Amino acid sequence: MKVYADNAATTRMRACALGAYVDTAEKFYGNPSSLYTVGQEARSLLEACRAEIAALLGAQPKEIYFTSGGSESDNQAILSAAHLGKIKGKTKIVSTAIEHHAVLHTLNKLKREGFEVVLLPVGTDGIVRLSDLEKELDGNTCLVSVMFANNEIGTLQPVEEIGKLCREKKIFFHTDAVQAVGHTAVDVREIGCDYLALSAHKFGGPKGVGALYVRQGAPLYPLIEGGAQERGKRAGTEDLPAIKAMTAAMKEAVETVPETEKKIKILRDKLIAGLEKIPHSALNGDREKRLAGNVNFCFEGIEGESLLLLLDDMGISASSGSACTSGSLDPSHVLLAIGRVHDVAHGSLRLTLSAENTEEEINYILEKVPEVVTYLRNMSPVWRDLQEGKRQYIL
Ligand SMILES: *Cc1c(COP(=O)(O)O)cnc(C)c1O
Repeated sequence: MKVYADNAATTRMRACALGAYVDTAEKFYGNPSSLYTVGQEARSLLEACRAEIAALLGAQPKEIYFTSGGSESDNQAILSAAHLGKIKGKTKIVSTAIEHHAVLHTLNKLKREGFEVVLLPVGTDGIVRLSDLEKELDGNTCLVSVMFANNEIGTLQPVEEIGKLCREKKIFFHTDAVQAVGHTAVDVREIGCDYLALSAHKFGGPKGVGALYVRQGAPLYPLIEGGAQERGKRAGTEDLPAIKAMTAAMKEAVETVPETEKKIKILRDKLIAGLEKIPHSALNGDREKRLAGNVNFCFEGIEGESLLLLLDDMGISASSGSACTSGSLDPSHVLLAIGRVHDVAHGSLRLTLSAENTEEEINYILEKVPEVVTYLRNMSPVWRDLQEGKRQYIL
């Protein structure tokens, strides 16, 4: 059996997106900046996509900018707010310890340029505390950046409350909603954010395309200089087939959020209940305030990487930590932030579901994971020490 359970890393393209991609590439090959009809037809389609994406987010079309994906959107939002902050003499940025590297590494760069960056801790539930945030907001703060939903443990952050706080204090608020759009209800008016990043390949669209919502009046500076595309904020001929495919995928994903959430929550909870039966295991992140398709566990006495490879041999695609961290031996910064010690954080497994997963697949995962965990533990010197009492169990 083949089971794809790594939908937080990327998703299979939806049929509607693939169809839209091919159709647009074939029929709308004109350059949207060209003045003749073939170009203007492409321009009309581009603007129709912008209007549709805006409507799906509760935004105005002129507040949507097309980018190459989540990373670029995050970079541009943060660097823009920081740039204006610097001009106004405000050089403090408040974010969290569990952000995606697209945010954390951008903040590191600003730190080297003299910004004060505060990364708020999260509780063992993987959620940031509003009181911690409120304490950090002062007259020197130019930006708050808190993700909507975490990519590793799926925890949902209190973005609406954060938006309210930021509006009261007149501080710009960016939210990385890459894991949220198309997976749960997202409306920029309800969040009250100034910037929101999204990426097509996380909801059944193509890779290499995304969008940035920028509230009218919030600063935006280009990362890429060149032509006047995207109102001079993002140069380069637009990838219209990808933008059209993203739009089709987003429409389908957003419109089916209630059904999808209902369906995969049942599968998620079955998976959690089954994996919890494995001794010395623990769910990572809050049980309720998490994405409908996210399951993340730590198993004591094993290496997550070995677990992944053995599951792969059985046809199961899963993840340990995030895809960006694999290849390095550092444990996930998110698992460390929720208080898992290094050894335990190393034995993690993330399974992320989509509407395509079936109950049969969940049963298969629940048959294979305990087998593989037992197999690995039987070979592990750490596990032997735990069993012989030479080490204390943590989980
Ligand atoms: C995947 C992801 C990104 C990066 O998006 P790309 O389109 O792959 O650049 C950023 N933030 C989060 C939370 C993500 O899950």
